[in-house]
Amino acid sequence: METTVDFNVTKVERSKLNDLSLENIPFGKFFTDHMLEADYENGEWKNVEIKPYQPLLLEPSLAALHYGQSIFEGIKAYKFENGDAFIFRPYDNWKRFNKSAERMCMPEVPEEIFIDGMKQLIELDKNWIPAKAEHSLYIRPFMFATDPVLGVKPSLTYKFLILLSPTGPYYAEPMKIYVEEKYTRAAPGGVGFSKNAGNYGGSMMAAKEAQKLGYDQVLWTDAFEHKWLQEVGMMNVVFVINNTAVTPSLDEGTILEGVTRASVLTLLEEMGLQVEERKINIDEVIEAYKKGSLKEVFGTGTAATIAPIKELRYKDFAMKFDAWTVAPKVKGQLNNIRYGRSDDRFNWLERI
Ligand SMILES: *Cc1c(COP(=O)(O)O)cnc(C)c1O
Repeated sequence: METTVDFNVTKVERSKLNDLSLENIPFGKFFTDHMLEADYENGEWKNVEIKPYQPLLLEPSLAALHYGQSIFEGIKAYKFENGDAFIFRPYDNWKRFNKSAERMCMPEVPEEIFIDGMKQLIELDKNWIPAKAEHSLYIRPFMFATDPVLGVKPSLTYKFLILLSPTGPYYAEPMKIYVEEKYTRAAPGGVGFSKNAGNYGGSMMAAKEAQKLGYDQVLWTDAFEHKWLQEVGMMNVVFVINNTAVTPSLDEGTILEGVTRASVLTLLEEMGLQVEERKINIDEVIEAYKKGSLKEVFGTGTAATIAPIKELRYKDFAMKFDAWTVAPKVKGQLNNIRYGRSDDRFNWLERI
C-alpha cells in the first residue's frame, strides 16, 4: 500500500490548558489542544494532519452512521516523576486496531500514522499528561467510513483520527456485577473480538437493566446456554480460585483481546500464580465460591485498569467479596511499571 505521510502541523494560538486543572478530571470529558486526522481515498492514506481540536463537517449520508463501519482503540500515556512520558504497549493496540479493521472490511492504518502520528501528537500536547498518581492521558484512535452514499457495502473512503483526553481515576469503587442471561454480546463468527462501535450500542440495554437492579455492569455469557463467561462491560474478567487465575480464553472470537488482560496475566505468573486461559462457566464459579476457594474476581481494562468486584450475582444467588489481595497487588505492579517506579522488564513502555 502506498502511503503519503506529510504530517502538516497547525498549532493552537493559545492552549486551553491555561483554563483547566488536571486534578481529578473526569474520564473522557476534556480533550487536549490538538488532534490527528487522516483521510483514506483511492486506496491510500493522505492529508495526515495534526491540527487544533475542532468539529468535523460531515455529510448526513455518511456511511458509518447508517451501516456501522466504525472502530476505535483505547490506550494510555503516563508521565514519570522526572517528567519523561511513555505510551503503554501502543503496538499491541495498533495490531488489534488493524484486526478490527480487517473484520469490518476497513483499510489498515500503517505504523507511520498510528504510532508515529500518535507520538508526534502527544509530544505536542505533552503538558496535558497529568503527573498525579492514577492520572494519565487517554488516547482514542478511531476510524469510520465516510462514503456519502446509501447502500450496504464497504465504504471506499475513511477518516482516521486520534484524540487525547487527560483523565483521573476511573472506577474508584469495587463493582457490583450481574451475570447476564437474556441479552447476548457476541457469538462465534460474530464481531465480538473487534472494537467496533456497534458492539457498544448493542450492549447498553443490558447494562441499563442491570443498573435498574442496582448493579454497575453485566458479566456477559455465551449466546447458546448463557453459562459460559465472557467479559464485563469494557473489561476482561479474572477469577482467582485458590492460587490459580482463570480467565476466559479468546479462541471463539467472542471476547476482546485486552492489552491489560495480557499484561495482568504476565504479572500474575510473575507473582507465582498459576494462569489458565480456558472456558469457564458460572456453575464452576459458584461451586468454587461455596467451597471457599473463589478468592476474588476482578475486571481488567485500559480505562479502569483493575476493578475489583464486590458482588457477582447469578439469578438469585449473590457472591460477595470484601477483601482483595491479588487485585491490588497486580494493580500496584502494573502501576509501578507504568509510572516508572519499577523496571520495564517486559518492554511495555514506548517513549514519547
Ligand atoms: C477495550 C475493551 C476491553 C479491554 O481491553 P484493554 O486493551 O485492556 O483496554 C475489554 N473488553 C471490551 C469489550 C473492550 O472494548
